[in-house]
Amino acid sequence: MTSGTRRKPGPASALIIGGLKRGLPRVRFVRHRTPQCLGRAFFGPMGAKPDDIAEWPAMLASIREMGGWAFVETEKKTPVVHWWASARADRLRVAYVLGHEVGHISGRPLRSLRNDWREELRADEYGAAAFLAMQQALGGRR
Ligand SMILES: [Zn+2]
Repeated sequence: MTSGTRRKPGPASALIIGGLKRGLPRVRFVRHRTPQCLGRAFFGPMGAKPDDIAEWPAMLASIREMGGWAFVETEKKTPVVHWWASARADRLRVAYVLGHEVGHISGRPLRSLRNDWREELRADEYGAAAFLAMQQALGGRR
């Protein structure tokens, strides 16, 4: 953990809904205080720092423009979703991004030699579900 990182406990491993136990994917969430902290978490396992990566300045600008970004670290026993969002980021967009990352560790990943985007599109379905569910939970605004 870096000094710029705030760890929060992950969600429960299961919920009781309608009297039945509903499993949740094993996942931990780590919210980073800045996009730079997120970049260190992303490139660190590769033995690099963000400033070592030629694409980092453009990536950082894109992350700031979007107001948030996330990735899921799957090498650990419990996958970790690392994320950053600006204080003014739309909470529904944050739900979409986090839902997308949880989607990568849910169900069966789609791998295709012909289409790298199939897995991204599958994860987007989880993001869309998270967005719509959060939208309703917050009162159905928009
Ligand atoms: Zn993705």
